[in-house]
Amino acid sequence: MKEQGFIRSPRTAVLIIVAAILLTAGSMLAQTKAIRVGHLIDPAAGTVAENQVIVVKDRLISEVGPGVTIPEGAEVIDLSSAWVMPGLMDAHTHITLNGLGTSMTLEDLYLKATTATRALLGLKTAQDILQTGFTTVRDVGNDANYAAADVRDAIRRGWFTGPTVLTSGKIIGPFGGQSSHISPEQGPFWLFEYIDADSVEEVRKAVRQNIYYGADCIKLVADNSAFYYTLEEIRAAVEESHAAGRPVSVHVMGGEAARNVILGGADSVEHGFYLSDELLELMKEKGTWLVGTDFPEAHFKNMNYSRAKEDAAAIIDRLKRAYKIGVRMAFGSDTVSNLPGKNRGEMMLDYLDVWQAAGIPPATTLKAMTTNAAELLKIEKQRGLIAKGLAADIIATPASPLENIQALRQVMFVMKDGKIVKHAE
Ligand SMILES: [Zn+2]
Repeated sequence: MKEQGFIRSPRTAVLIIVAAILLTAGSMLAQTKAIRVGHLIDPAAGTVAENQVIVVKDRLISEVGPGVTIPEGAEVIDLSSAWVMPGLMDAHTHITLNGLGTSMTLEDLYLKATTATRALLGLKTAQDILQTGFTTVRDVGNDANYAAADVRDAIRRGWFTGPTVLTSGKIIGPFGGQSSHISPEQGPFWLFEYIDADSVEEVRKAVRQNIYYGADCIKLVADNSAFYYTLEEIRAAVEESHAAGRPVSVHVMGGEAARNVILGGADSVEHGFYLSDELLELMKEKGTWLVGTDFPEAHFKNMNYSRAKEDAAAIIDRLKRAYKIGVRMAFGSDTVSNLPGKNRGEMMLDYLDVWQAAGIPPATTLKAMTTNAAELLKIEKQRGLIAKGLAADIIATPASPLENIQALRQVMFVMKDGKIVKHAE
């Protein structure tokens, strides 16, 4: 069959080419932004460079430096009196979970909220979080039937504006997940949120199930009951996850269960409220990250947590010791409730009070919230720094967070993947 040519004359061809060039040039200019920066923070080094220009093309940073020429036709954003830094990251969130301890128990939530409801809540939460300056969050489970993966994909497809969401899928744990004393007549309804895995083989299968359904990382709960994961079970989870390029985070509070987690090669200990100095030293030696989820006492109380006072004090003490020993730390909040008048992102920023109370220097806290978190999440080649070729996830504050970390509560500019999502004058 003879092909029918679409372009019928040389003149039409020239017109089409000219139109194509004009369209391409127009869209390129529209996509190019130049930010005049007063004070540019490098959180990896804890340093500030004055009077810089960042050029953003489409979703990426294409140039950054003091003498960078602003491309002709670029949209110029004036942050010449602000402190500019990469977007914040929270390595321990539950975006599809809310209301614990107020009106709903975990069991109520399993029984009364559909996966669709949970996904919609997750989307709302993710958008609130982005407005406060967090451009990346890791969701570590409790998302019904993989609801956080749907939120992640909806944002990636451009259906909604939101932070980068990385998800763990269902939480893998020994029998019962994080439920307790459910009557035998009810059956294992925690399986709506958890995968029971009680041997090396079951752990491997659970990891594979999560990866199959789209998990970016793997989350285990090691010590919810008197029984806890063995060294061999942790090793199996780590081997299986790492083979697929996924980091492993493990909820564990301390003791022998934590020793198994650290020696088993998990990437991060989540919570670790009761870690001894010896275990913290072991974490330092093994390079295990601490994602401390350092709850302020008021948040514990808001969740009707029975050990609010004791554990809030234990957390500050553990944070101090972890810093002194030199354990690698990434910021993670674990916020699952809202205090009156505060959205989820504002609740996450309340953790700054705890880091401050533990005497952690602002530069260390900011690093935990940016480059450290990116390294733990294995996205440091894409995000976490303001550098050429990285995603344009950029925020700004009117004062320096290196002087006072509380400046992060005043984020007035947020750019996510090159798109301005907040710019308060
Ligand atoms: Zn959690």
